[in-house]
Amino acid sequence: MSDTTNRLTTSWGAPVGDNQNSMTAGSRGPTLIQDVHLLEKLAHFNRERVPERVVHAKGAGAHGYFEVTNDLSKYTKAAFLSEVGKRTPLFVRFSTVAGELGSADTVRDPRGFAVKFYTEEGNYDLVGNNTPVFFIRDAIKFPDFIHTQKRHPQTHLKNPNAVWDFWSLSPESLHQVTILMSDRGIPATYRHMHGFGSHTFKWVNAAGEAVWVKYHFKTEQGIRNLDVELAAKLAGENPDYHTEDLFNAIAQGDFPAWKLCVQIMPLEDADTYRFDPFDVTKVWSQKDYPLIEVGRMVLDRNPDNYFAEVEQATFSPGSFVPGIEASPDKMLQGRLFAYSDAHRYRVGANHNALPINRPKAETNTYQRDGQMRFDGNGGGSVYYEPNSFGGPKQSAEHKTAPFPVSGTAASVAYDHADHYTQAGDLYRLLSEEERARLVRNIVSAMKPVEKDEIKLRQIAHFHKADPEYGRRVAEGLGLPVPRDDG
Ligand code: NDP
Repeated sequence: MSDTTNRLTTSWGAPVGDNQNSMTAGSRGPTLIQDVHLLEKLAHFNRERVPERVVHAKGAGAHGYFEVTNDLSKYTKAAFLSEVGKRTPLFVRFSTVAGELGSADTVRDPRGFAVKFYTEEGNYDLVGNNTPVFFIRDAIKFPDFIHTQKRHPQTHLKNPNAVWDFWSLSPESLHQVTILMSDRGIPATYRHMHGFGSHTFKWVNAAGEAVWVKYHFKTEQGIRNLDVELAAKLAGENPDYHTEDLFNAIAQGDFPAWKLCVQIMPLEDADTYRFDPFDVTKVWSQKDYPLIEVGRMVLDRNPDNYFAEVEQATFSPGSFVPGIEASPDKMLQGRLFAYSDAHRYRVGANHNALPINRPKAETNTYQRDGQMRFDGNGGGSVYYEPNSFGGPKQSAEHKTAPFPVSGTAASVAYDHADHYTQAGDLYRLLSEEERARLVRNIVSAMKPVEKDEIKLRQIAHFHKADPEYGRRVAEGLGLPVPRDDG
């Protein structure tokens, strides 16, 4: 038998006789349809792309591990957090939000910060951003919000009118807009930024007692941001700057690391805290709920293949493990549906069976069939429940912890209308140089807005956060400064 080790084959495994010249009728052609290798090659090429993510399309990923440094089992029974020194493998995907798959990395945009912990009790996905808050707090506004970040339906251009119209009419965005327009709106690299779970989640311990929790990944590389002129230059010269930086750092053994901390709130505080703790446009002050260390995340291995690992990685804030549950945060509640639904559409109903998403824990489900069922599909094992054949069974100790609900079902707004205090607190903690750059960034972003009505409405929000903030933006735009009494 001839040596077959390096032999080019078709996807059905047959040796290819010629991969350079298609089969033609005579030397001039036309080309013969019976050249099935050619047909397969062209047809597969046409199908190389899966739909890009509608948000967070451009990203970079890496493998690593999480190591527990502080025992918090009094708050959660999550097995991967159960003992100091315990290591859990993980995969991280960083991303920009608004741009397309080929868009530039060094733009002003929040950065996605998604972590998949392959725990022994299934995958736990913490799907956050590099900001502790978000622009909106009810998922029903999300499609409209993202439309404003995308391209105009006629011109196919980015549209500052839509961006500022929406923000000025949605004042809950002010806190996040202030973060976005500050120096941290363009991180120097993916390594030099913090990560946040952003939402409030629930932790439940072995005794069934619960607390509210927020997650903070603190970069060990230190916060570093890009100067706007340099960022614009890099966006042209090296649009993949952040992707390249992450890959090269890991390839060179310079492994980035983050300290994971949490804030813990007793359940009953949620009724009396001065901000609604389930409102994702608000933080919990660290003076009220100080950071508690949990462990350390290290990224130490690059993907072997971008498409297989980074593009096909599917994260969902609904991928919980025992000991970690949802909160009533209305933005989180919408994401619990939307993320998995996006993956079913983009990657397929069996996306969780792909190698990058497959849990390292044993999976035993009654799901069968579906497109691209590439594992054994359960073989001949029992495929329904209840059954008399010893099929996998629920474990009552893993039921969601019961929680009380009350009220009248209706479409209701958050009853907390203070969109200004925390945005103002952020403005006031900035140095004079940081404030000047923040105002400059806002002014240059708002200048192209055509309607003064939109600009004035937004200036009034800045002014309510801090009169100096509003005054400086108004002056930069050459518009009237709001009166301090209103
Ligand atoms: P604290 O003084 O206790 O904490 C301030 C927080 O702001 C720290 O997390 C700090 O950590 C972070 N910070 C410092 N400089 C900047 C900056 N230039 N841009 C963004 N974040 C910065 O105050 P509070 O917890 O009461 O929060 C005050 C304000 O700080 C909030 O209104 C919010 O805007 C902002 N903030 C709060 C966070 C929280 O979870 N409480 C998290 C991040 C920001 P570091 O320098 O390491 O980022």
